[in-house]
Amino acid sequence: MDIKLYNTLSRQKESFKPIIDGRVGIYTCGPTVYSRASIGNFRSYLFSDLLRRMFELNGFLVKQVINITDVGHLTSDASEGEDKLEKASKATGETAWDIAKKYTELFLQDMERLNILRPHELPRATDHIEGQIELVKVLDKKGFTYQTSDGIYFDTSRLADYGKLAGQKLEDKQEGARVEVNEEKKNPTDFALWKFSPKDAKRQMEWESPWGIGFPGWHIECSAMSEEYLGVPFDIHTGGIDHIPVHHTNEIAQTESAREKPLANVWMHNAFLLVDNGKMSKSLGNTYSLDDLQARGFDSIAYRYFFFGAHYRVQQNFTWEALEASQNALHKLQKIVKGLPKGADVNEEYKSRFMERINDDLDVPGALSVLWTMIKDDNVAPELKYATLIKFDEVLGLGLSNLELGDVEVPEEVHELLDLRAKARAEKNWELSDQIRDKILELGFEISDGQGGQTIEPIV
Ligand SMILES: [Zn+2]
Repeated sequence: MDIKLYNTLSRQKESFKPIIDGRVGIYTCGPTVYSRASIGNFRSYLFSDLLRRMFELNGFLVKQVINITDVGHLTSDASEGEDKLEKASKATGETAWDIAKKYTELFLQDMERLNILRPHELPRATDHIEGQIELVKVLDKKGFTYQTSDGIYFDTSRLADYGKLAGQKLEDKQEGARVEVNEEKKNPTDFALWKFSPKDAKRQMEWESPWGIGFPGWHIECSAMSEEYLGVPFDIHTGGIDHIPVHHTNEIAQTESAREKPLANVWMHNAFLLVDNGKMSKSLGNTYSLDDLQARGFDSIAYRYFFFGAHYRVQQNFTWEALEASQNALHKLQKIVKGLPKGADVNEEYKSRFMERINDDLDVPGALSVLWTMIKDDNVAPELKYATLIKFDEVLGLGLSNLELGDVEVPEEVHELLDLRAKARAEKNWELSDQIRDKILELGFEISDGQGGQTIEPIV
């Protein structure tokens, strides 16, 4: 089946063509591990998880890489400001290394709570310093760099198509750029590849390089690590839309100048998560983590269901009411799945309708609507509904196959009676239907007839 994806680079939906048949490489810009990731940050990882699962449902062998930025991401997107890790260390008294370790672990735990599949590679920037230095050396040799008093910089004026991802010309970008503190930079858009450690202070994270002791700029790690794990070019690079004008633009500048090949064939970006129709910010106290959700009685998976409520390229508005509605819908779905007799055969028609939606640039709201339509469709046998929902869940990742009916196992006899009752109801034989209901009740299960057909719950 054709897979269509919106490519930021070409500004249109394209039919996906893998570099190697049946395989796909995906790189997603990961967290800077100096603080707890917010539900807004997780929109990006839920999106790349959905992308990966969609490819897997289509039979692709996926290699997914998410990097861990544990050094060098400066507090501003430009080349000024402090390293976020070193700054957090000063504020808390913990070492930069301990902070990075703590928030990396929390990030991985949060990923698990959201049922985000573990990426095949989770490279840390500090484990790949050598590769980053090698890449800067190539750029240096090719004449794309220059040195200032605080580091080695990339000369963006050397590239005719700098800014193509954002659709900006260099002159426009320069005009729009804020006044830079660093007057040694040749162009406002130039950025640091390697920063020198301050002469009067020792940094916690610093390394030797041909240019002097220091640490890598933020952008170079993604160029170096994506190449190491996926090659040049690879299939799909993803991230939040905030990465388009600077971080991803600079990744492209570095790799394409050094290797004279495109970095990635497809660039995909998710839109922001708003909170109460406004920006999420630390000062407003609304950068919620999964723990904040849990404190208000919400499962992390309810947030995953909430994420499915909007297409990834559309801004999504988070409110507690919307999360509650998502949790209710999720519980309803779980209840329906629990009450269905287990089957192995999938309804092919609904499966292809579902895949048609999900393969169309990850239209997950559309795919969910196929799911609810099937649940209400009386022409689909309950066993088939069960197996089809479990198939859909390979993409949705709501854990539907792991649902337990309390600790009670539903006896085979009850399943058989449920089938007989469904048949009786289809034939409008209400008398028989009621008799079977009573029999099932005697066996300890209560039936309710909802939109999804019959569901049962043990009587406690
Ligand atoms: Zn990146």
